[in-house]
Amino acid sequence: MESSKPHAVIVPSPGVGHLVRSIELGNRLVADQNFRVTFFVVLEFQASAGESQLIQSAIAQKLLDIVVLPPVDVSGQVGPNSPTFTRLTAVMQEIRPTLRSAISDLKLIPTAIVVDVFGTPVLEIADEIHMLKYVFASSAWPLALILYAPILDKEVEGEYVDLKEPLRVPGCKSVRLEDVVDPLLDRTKHEYKVFLQVGSEMRRSDGVLVNTWEDLDTRTLKAIREEEGFGSVSVYAVGPLIKPAGPSASRSELLDWLDEQPIESVLYISFGSLGVLSAQQITELAWGLEMSQQRFIWVLRPPRKKDASADRGDDALNYLPEGFLSRTQKLGLVVTQWAPQSEILCHRSTGAFLSHCGWNSSLESILRGVPMIAWPLYAEQKMNATKLVEEGVAVRSKIAPTRGGGG
Ligand code: UDP
Repeated sequence: MESSKPHAVIVPSPGVGHLVRSIELGNRLVADQNFRVTFFVVLEFQASAGESQLIQSAIAQKLLDIVVLPPVDVSGQVGPNSPTFTRLTAVMQEIRPTLRSAISDLKLIPTAIVVDVFGTPVLEIADEIHMLKYVFASSAWPLALILYAPILDKEVEGEYVDLKEPLRVPGCKSVRLEDVVDPLLDRTKHEYKVFLQVGSEMRRSDGVLVNTWEDLDTRTLKAIREEEGFGSVSVYAVGPLIKPAGPSASRSELLDWLDEQPIESVLYISFGSLGVLSAQQITELAWGLEMSQQRFIWVLRPPRKKDASADRGDDALNYLPEGFLSRTQKLGLVVTQWAPQSEILCHRSTGAFLSHCGWNSSLESILRGVPMIAWPLYAEQKMNATKLVEEGVAVRSKIAPTRGGGG
């Protein structure tokens, strides 16, 4: 009987990376655990191409009750270039009244709510109507850092990046100062306070779900569960949850082209849904590909408009060296649209992935047995890259890292 099933509400923050793993979590709860799941989609402005595709395919699967909430605009509160943590938590604050009334309109009262790390502002709704509250995090080591951040704040004086030694997180591998996540770079900034607040809220939740598995993160999971300083929050390794490669993905010309290439010969290049390179980095990468004669598929986005002198408009192809496309016609493909990444990583011709180390991409690559070249850009990607190199599934590129290339 429908009404006897546990009913969970899942509310990811905007963004493809958050949506993709939350949909998979919901699908598993329904298909494997006999839950009923109401899935609220929160959008900033409007759905991106990637978000639209994910929502459409989740609707077609018919496992989740999907409710798309009216888009939120926080441009009056936060600037266009404000950091991810500040912007997304502001969106999740702003959605509260709409979400509150949408939840109270549900026929079946939910027993639990699941948000991601940016969604802790909506957990107050769970307190009001007595739902259990869970936070779904991506990778384990950055999770340990955020849970421990309120203690670090008391332990450490001055800026973390000025310390003489790596950041100590009990029981876990210490965090190299060059890998420290963006919100911890400047303690005077609002983003830092938001990060601490999120860490505190997560410690007060009924549990944290994390997209990993026991063998991949044995040390970190044990530390969070047993060491002092993480609060007494329960942590559950529920991964790996990745988007399955589906036959539904329209048979794009990319896959036809891959069919023609030798086995494991193609380098797939993508920096996720938000990562961008600078104009100069695009030029250098293009020359590198051409000079090495390496086969490639490159998902290319235009650079962020920071440097007016390098601005060549919104068409990403304008940033490639002149004649690059014709000279590399037989060597590779440049894609400016949304790429079928899961299908590309599953293809036998794909030999390696030059990646920004977003956690979804990392898991997709690990599970499809595709080695990575790590080019982390922002958020927790540098920590992910270090972890992946240590696990022997990635090598680090020698390219100088950048701060703030996305998100
Ligand atoms: N993705 C895709 N096509 C693209 C770019 C990204 O299918 O052109 C998918 C990718 O497979 C992954 C997600 O979008 O599932 C990106 O998540 P990730 O955590 O790797 O990076 P984020 O976008 O959150 O930085």
